[in-house]
Parts: sequence; structure tokens; C-alpha cells
Amino acid sequence: MRFFRFASALLFCSGLAVAQSVFAQSSQSGSAAPTPPKPIQMFDLNAIDKSADPCVNFYDYACGNWRKNNPIPGDQARWGRFNELREQDRYLLWKDLNSAATDPRTALQRKYGDFYAACMNTDLTNQLGEKPVQPVLASIDGLSDKKGLAVLIARLQVDDATNAFFRFGSEQDQKDSQKQIGAVYQGGLSLPDRDYYILDDERMTKIRKQYKDYAVALFKLAGDNDDKAAAEADSVLAIETTLAKGSLSRVDLRDPAKRYHLLALTDLNTLAPDFDWNSYLAGTPAPTLHEVNIGTPDFFKAMNDVIQNQSLDNIKSYLRFHALNAAAPWLSQPYVDLNFDFFQKTLQGQMEQEARWKRCTTLSDRSLGEAVGQDWVKENFPPAAKANMEKLVAALEKALNEDIQSLPWMTPETKKQAEAKLAAFRQKIGYPEKWRDYSKLEVKRDDLLGNIWRSHAFETDWDLKKIGKPVDEKEWGMTPPTVNAYYDPSNNDINFPAGILQPPFFDNSKDPAANFGAIGVVIGHEMTHGFDDQGSKYDAQGNVQNWWTPSDRTAFDERTGCEVNEYGSFEPVAGQKLNGKLTLGENTADNGGIRIAYQALMSVLAKEGASAEKKKIDGYTPEQRYFISFAQIWCENVRDEYARVAARTDPHSPGQFRVNGVVQNFDEFGKAFGCHKGQPMMPEKPCVVW
Ligand SMILES: [Zn+2]
Repeated sequence: MRFFRFASALLFCSGLAVAQSVFAQSSQSGSAAPTPPKPIQMFDLNAIDKSADPCVNFYDYACGNWRKNNPIPGDQARWGRFNELREQDRYLLWKDLNSAATDPRTALQRKYGDFYAACMNTDLTNQLGEKPVQPVLASIDGLSDKKGLAVLIARLQVDDATNAFFRFGSEQDQKDSQKQIGAVYQGGLSLPDRDYYILDDERMTKIRKQYKDYAVALFKLAGDNDDKAAAEADSVLAIETTLAKGSLSRVDLRDPAKRYHLLALTDLNTLAPDFDWNSYLAGTPAPTLHEVNIGTPDFFKAMNDVIQNQSLDNIKSYLRFHALNAAAPWLSQPYVDLNFDFFQKTLQGQMEQEARWKRCTTLSDRSLGEAVGQDWVKENFPPAAKANMEKLVAALEKALNEDIQSLPWMTPETKKQAEAKLAAFRQKIGYPEKWRDYSKLEVKRDDLLGNIWRSHAFETDWDLKKIGKPVDEKEWGMTPPTVNAYYDPSNNDINFPAGILQPPFFDNSKDPAANFGAIGVVIGHEMTHGFDDQGSKYDAQGNVQNWWTPSDRTAFDERTGCEVNEYGSFEPVAGQKLNGKLTLGENTADNGGIRIAYQALMSVLAKEGASAEKKKIDGYTPEQRYFISFAQIWCENVRDEYARVAARTDPHSPGQFRVNGVVQNFDEFGKAFGCHKGQPMMPEKPCVVW
């Protein structure tokens, strides 16, 4: 996976990006044998609550009964229809992993089978305790002066999968998308966002206290006495708070201009003179660099402040914590439990740990996704699905083109540029044409943490060695079984992994209205990302360049401003509103997606003639089925704790607002359900961008 991909996905990747580890998903527990999940219904009549008024709250109408009948399982913080599909995909992936672990038929199966088997061997992990991480702790203990810090950090980042201090990787040059450059960005935090360190309200103060308690307990588990553990935890919090204060907000990171400072390597020395950058780079697999994108310059000043003003012992405590914390989910049970209790239970409200097989399957997908994915697609992705997707994408492209041409607020000059960008869109469907080669990755059947580290080093090596080489446009940013999709502004391409091309998103046996409402809107969503607050700053070649006339840009900003206010007023959980700017790109994509897919559906129905346009199925017109199918993608139940973290960190709005926020901006919805102007789902002044 690319380290820095400012791509826009349909969903937040793999739960919340709580940064406790590069890999950690969750923690330990039961070994109950997996049971096959129930088949998933697309367009589910049983999900509808007919006692709700669709013109007052469409989400309640389309999803009310689903929400009543599908409480959140104990091992989840959020449970929605796409989670059902994720569970199904994960189960099918588990079958491949499990059979490869017991009876491998190929060298590749032996590799991912061994990886999975090592993860499942809890007898061994429990017997070893913290032993697997001890060599890393010893190398930190061995640091005798601050001069040696750079070499140590290189090793911790590359070989030991920690996120100590900052992040270094390759990225496409945003001004020259054919070029791969090196980039450094802020990092080094463990709480979900910089706000958690900075805000002084009661909730954040409490979470910081709980975080400190977690750090103390972790140090004690590793053998420190009470006093030392408390002092070490204080150092961790002090250092991370300084780093947080130097970090850009998530909203600022959405702006390409704010994260682009392509400078000579020597400029890093000016920003952080107390860190030996040359030694650091020599300790990584990166080629010789002459320039680097310093994504977040203020952060590196803050980092220098830490190195200058914190004692060597304090810095070592910080590094020790990061090493232990990253390894904890894959060490013995007490470590797993401790890590789970803070990151999943306290922060996100998850009641119990996922079964071990689930965690090991997810870990295998993340570490060897294109290995096990090769077998997975052979069994689970029929070629017909790809052909059908291609047809749908073509229909959506045509609809977006018509939409652009009909925009009342855009001048012909800018329209021409927008059409050129759309014409240059590329698409990737299902899985890579060419698979990654894992032959050089060593996997041992009795070394879980070592496997995780080697896999991380393998990915880092692959990523950093891209610097200076041509861009591979065929590379994927998600593994084949992933239930998600993304638009990449630097490649100007839309990507749909095989995992999402199934019910409730896509079902060949269903009518066009149901499919356009679900996967059609997803395709339209990804396309609209090319024209949201972030994507609209990139041109057809994937370069950041202004192709707008000033008046069109002003009109665009006014229209997106309407969405910022609309979504910023939504309150997913008492006392916590959404951030209208953080979610702007996704909301714009949702609002564009529903219009474009609707337009595409109308063209299909018109071709089929009057009988298709009027034909009711299950008592619903095609228009009504379209909106219900769309809404049902987002049926979900969410724990309050998760909702609070997501409101600060997730660029996507929660399900109920992805549905109601969108339909209330689209008059065709009100018409389909006989609403009248002024009702909640058909306001007088809707927000319309695309
Ligand atoms: Zn998106």
C-alpha cells in the first residue's frame, strides 16, 4: 500500500484510524469456530419501517426496522450493512487462509498459510510474553546520546513497525504527477487526533487521564515499578502534546497547498537541526535524496523542540512506549487485553474483543493482501461482475458529462476543463492486472511479531524504492476483498475492489433502480471526488493546478459553503456536531453521486420505454426503489463513544446524515415520495453543487 495516498474513499478504512500501531486492529479472545454469515439481501423490504414518514425522516423509513432488528454485536463499535458484507468477505478470506495453513497447494499458499498459522498460535504468544519485543526495547535502552537518535528512529520505523515521531514515504509530486518523490509528514501520536491532546474540555481531560493510566499499566506490565512507570507515562504525554501542537488539523491536511513544500534536503536541517537527517536517511532503504516534500514544516520544528528540551531518558520513555504499544495487540494475553481496553473499549465503546480468527484474517489481509487476494478473487469474483461494472461506469460517466453541461452556475470555459478532466478518468475494477511479488518476504510459522515486522519492512522498502522511479498507474491502494472504493486525485482514477461488488451494493438479478441506487451512487460518489473541495484543485493529469475561472471558483465555494453549514449543524451524538469542513469532500461526493446515478437510471429507463418507467416492484416505483436502495446501504447502529471519535476524525458523515443530508438536497426525492416543499426532507432552499 502507498504510505501517503490522499485518496478519497467511500468509507473510513478498517474502523477508526486510532493510531496505536501500524497494524493493530483489535485484540484477543475466543477461538470459537467461524460460522458462515447469512446471505445478504439487496433492497430489503424487511428493513423498512412503514410507520415512519419518508418526507420527515427518510433514514428512519428506509432503515428503521433494520436498526431495530440488528443490534451492534458485542465485538463491534459500529454495525451497518457494509459491516455485514465485510464479515462475509472476511469469512471467505478466512477459509482460504485456514486451508492454506493446514494444506497449502502452492508456495504462495504456504507463505500466507504460515503467516496466518503464526498469528493463531496463542499458546506460543502467551508463553513468550513480551519476549518478542525485547530486542527493540534493548536497542532503545542502548541509546547513549541524542546524536544516535536518528539511526535508532530509522530502525524503529522501518524494521519495527512503530510510528515514532514522524512518517517518511514516497508520494506522487502534486505538481508533476509522473514523478515519485520522498515526503515527510507529522506523526508520532497514539490518540486519534491532535485535538485529544490540545482541547481542555471535560471529556478530553478524562480521556488523557485514561490514556495515561493505560501507559502506566503498559510500562508496569513490561516490568517497571510504579514510580518509574508513572514518570515514563508523563514523558509520553508531554512529548506527544508538543508534537500535537505542531501538527496540522485534519481540515488543513485536506488542502494540497498546505501540505506541499518541496524543498532541498538541507531545509530539513534548518527546521530540525538537532536531528541528524543524513544518518536517518542512510538507515532507510530510500535512494539518495536531493529534495523532499516537507508536508508539515511546523511539526518538524515541534519535533526539534522535543529533541532539544526533553531529556534523553524522557525521549527513551516515549520510544519505549511506542514499541510496546505497537506490539501489544500481538503479544501475550495481558498485553492484548490492556491494549483492547483502552483503544477499543474506552475510546470506541466496543464491548468485547473480536475472535482471534477475525483479527488474524484482517492482519493477513493487511500484510499479504495481494497474496491471499489472488486466490480469493478466483473463487469469489466472477468475470461477469467486471463486465457489468464497466457498463455501469460508462453510464455514470455519460450522466456526469450531461450534468456538467447543464450546470447553471458554471461558465463554458470552466465546463470545458471539467469535461476534459472527466474524459481523462481511468478506472480499475476488481483486482490488479499484475500481482505483487512476495517471494523475498520471509514468513516463519513460529514468529508472529517477526512476521509483522518483516512484512512492514518489506512494504516500506517497496514504498521508498519508488522514489525517483516512474509512477505505476496500475498499482492498487486497497486489497481485493476490501469493502470500499476510492478516487485518487494524483492518478485521476476511480477504483472498485472486488469485495464491494456484491449485495447490498450490487446484484445482477435485481432491477436497474436497485443497482443504480446502490453501486451506481457509489460510482457517482467516486467520480464526484474528482470535483470536490480537494479533487477540484487537481487537473486531468493529476497535477495541482487551477483550471477554474475566478468567478466559477467563487460560485463553487459558495455552493460548498452551503453544505459546510448544513452538515455542520448535524449532531450525531448529544453535544457533538459534525465538522462541516472535514466532511465536505465526502458530502459533496454523496450529493453528486445521487444526482448522477439518478440521471443514468433515467436514461436506462427511457430506453426501455414507458412500461419500465412506470413499473412497480414490491409496491414501489423505480424512483422510490432507487432512493430506498441507496438509503439501505447506510443502515447502521453506532455506539456513542465511536460516534464521538468519528465526528472528529472521520471525513465521512454517519449513515443517517449520508442519507437524509443528501435526499433533502435533491428535489427528485421529494417528488418520488409525494413530499411537499417545506417538509424536512424537501426544504425550501437545498444545497446543490454538482
Ligand atoms: Zn468518498
